[in-house]
Amino acid sequence: MQPMSHRFTLELQKLERDSHDACSLCGRHFNDGETSHSGYDAESRPLYVGNCCASRIQETAARYRWTKHPYEVPSDNSSLWRYMDLAKFVSLLRDRSINFARADVLGDSWEGAKGAQINKTIWDAHYLSFLQEMIRNPPEGYQCEKSDEEVAAEANRLLEQLAVSGSLDLRRTYVSCWHENEIESEALWRLYCPPPTAGIAIRTTFADLKRAFDNDVSIQMGRVKYVDFRTQFAGVNDAIFRKRKSLQHEQEVRAVIRQYPGDESTRLTRQVELPALVKEVIVSPFSPPWLESIVSDLLKRYEAPIPIRTSELLSQPFF
Ligand SMILES: [Zn+2]
Repeated sequence: MQPMSHRFTLELQKLERDSHDACSLCGRHFNDGETSHSGYDAESRPLYVGNCCASRIQETAARYRWTKHPYEVPSDNSSLWRYMDLAKFVSLLRDRSINFARADVLGDSWEGAKGAQINKTIWDAHYLSFLQEMIRNPPEGYQCEKSDEEVAAEANRLLEQLAVSGSLDLRRTYVSCWHENEIESEALWRLYCPPPTAGIAIRTTFADLKRAFDNDVSIQMGRVKYVDFRTQFAGVNDAIFRKRKSLQHEQEVRAVIRQYPGDESTRLTRQVELPALVKEVIVSPFSPPWLESIVSDLLKRYEAPIPIRTSELLSQPFF
């Protein structure tokens, strides 16, 4: 088998991200546990393929044991929204950057949770037996020379470490939250800019958001899955993409940056090309009548030629 070169161009990293679920040549979907190959063909074009098309690879950058993402990815033309008050909008125009808040200050005390406290004994028992198995069965060529007591003590230590690293991870994880919807949401207007707040929403698409962050393929982007923590757990690696079912009206898509080692700042910013990112600015149906002309002036002043319109919620019914 060819050695791995570990050479990753930006194009190859983007291809890995964008065609994660299927062979980039024949389109076949991968199954859990099969091998995927990253590399380049004879003309140095990037390839991300399964065994089906691995013969086309001239240089192998890496091989993976394929597993699916812990999140679903919206289609490229899905609409993503952010609802905000005027102050936040002005700061967006001035700074031309998207904020990522540290996960522990996002405002949800369940952020990053693996499960409900009342189910912790079930979780602990599962991982303790998993860890004990792992210690008793080291890779081929090694032998476990520990007594049962030593295995149990080691497993307990690893479980405690897992809990500590879970809360440390929150302080190294930064999130930008978006609302996925093809139409405006009256609920979100009320939530983020309740009347009579002067509020606006910006709309983009999943493809444009990816493009806005394009130079940074380490940013993970996907849908939050809402789980019933009374009966479900989040996985060890999935927790940042899991929230309580009581929040499912948020229909959240999030972009996630993991920063190692974590510094102490509670937010990160990423510069963006605003007119390329924002398809339109929508003025809140609950805002005072003068807001639209103010928003229009602001867009001119900050040289952001973005279409502006009033809320669809202001349209009139007939009977
Ligand atoms: Zn293939």
